Amino acid sequence: MKKINGKTITQWIQTHPIIETIIHTEETLWLNPKYQTFESVIKNISLTLDDVIEAEERLNRFAPFLMTVFPETKPSSGIIESPIVEIPSMKKALEQFYNKKLGGDLLLKCDHLLPISGSIKARGGIYEVLKHAEGIALDSGMLTIQDDYSILAQPCFKELFSQYSIAVGSTGNLGLSIGIMSAKLGFNVFVHMSADAKTWKKDLIRKKGVTVIEYNFDYSLAVAEGRKQAEADNNMHFVDDENSTDLFLGYAVAALRLKKQLDELGVNVNEKKPLVVHLPCGVGGGPGGVAFGLKLIFKNNVHIYFVEPTHSPAMLLGLVTELHDKVSVQDFGIDNITEADGLAVGRPSGFVGKLLEELISGVYTVEDQHLYKLLSLLVDIENIYLEPSAVAGFPGMMKLENDKTASQHPTHIVWATGGNMLPDSVHQENYEKGKSYL
Ligand SMILES: *Cc1c(COP(=O)(O)O)cnc(C)c1O
Repeated sequence: MKKINGKTITQWIQTHPIIETIIHTEETLWLNPKYQTFESVIKNISLTLDDVIEAEERLNRFAPFLMTVFPETKPSSGIIESPIVEIPSMKKALEQFYNKKLGGDLLLKCDHLLPISGSIKARGGIYEVLKHAEGIALDSGMLTIQDDYSILAQPCFKELFSQYSIAVGSTGNLGLSIGIMSAKLGFNVFVHMSADAKTWKKDLIRKKGVTVIEYNFDYSLAVAEGRKQAEADNNMHFVDDENSTDLFLGYAVAALRLKKQLDELGVNVNEKKPLVVHLPCGVGGGPGGVAFGLKLIFKNNVHIYFVEPTHSPAMLLGLVTELHDKVSVQDFGIDNITEADGLAVGRPSGFVGKLLEELISGVYTVEDQHLYKLLSLLVDIENIYLEPSAVAGFPGMMKLENDKTASQHPTHIVWATGGNMLPDSVHQENYEKGKSYL
């Protein structure tokens, strides 16, 4: 009999009944029994608000460079940020769809519109590449921190960076972000891609001059192979999606900017009117970083929910079993096959799970068909095209309807994590698929 950390699956189900539902790949909501107040948890976490502010300042230093090489960042003065919008019609449509009155307001955080790579990975992924480039440039003596970083677009820096390589494992979007930014700076880039990666994403990355290495296996192997390649080469930096604090801090910067955006919208966040944030989760770095930043800013007035596909509940199993990266969905006989390619991860980040295990409020799972239905609904109601992973937060208001925060008329933020890079033909296919399920 196969054992997971010394216990059979039957024994796991006896002590944690929710695991049975998870194994049956039924949609489920898990409320975190280890949830604690922000104040009691934060003193045991080594990362701080100062770290996040430092990351934001680094991104600010790079703004003149980004404006120079990516003209699409000019309107935002070189800052890679997305709008947040109110979508009251979608809330009404969801009430109709679920046949349920839903408490609270609904906002959409539009990371599908992030410049350069059109997904949440344009936060952490790009940040880590920029930080790495800055380190090399400073060490070379060719750059000082006071310089106008637009000089980094000059050929001498391209030549400098061409002596270095960057490797990453990805289901698609991280490879896109890392690939586009690294190639633009002049690095040699290797993207190790899992079987879930969509063909159009691989093609697009190759077009940027990036070497794509494909595996007929899931994300964990792609990451392991990327790590191995970088270990063998002193001039190669591995972007470690499972463990990197740089990625994490790059994502966390979103919170500082979201605070300003909410202020501008006149959205007050307080004990009586909390924020509830729904974050699609793959390995956990993206949603984890954003969640950590939000907790630093809004403390106990923000409630964080991660969302995973029913076939890839990696973070959920990591948290429920408290085994984090020591457990995979495959250990419990779950196949990790989902159309939500951004979330097709079988083993969660141990770093993120452990850091957030007392800060996140819960995790829920969503079926692929359900994702496609919501994708089409959003097109019909708001004319917004997302990728399947990115709509995962929409069921949240319904899932939490019986939870006590629902009665507080909270502000729900659905984090739309990607979509803008998809070819129109793929958007159309996804839309039609969703319509056929409706
Ligand atoms: C990567 C990704 C996520 C989740 O980020 P992780 O860091 O893998 O947890 C969510 N949505 C989309 C579209 C993504 O590409």
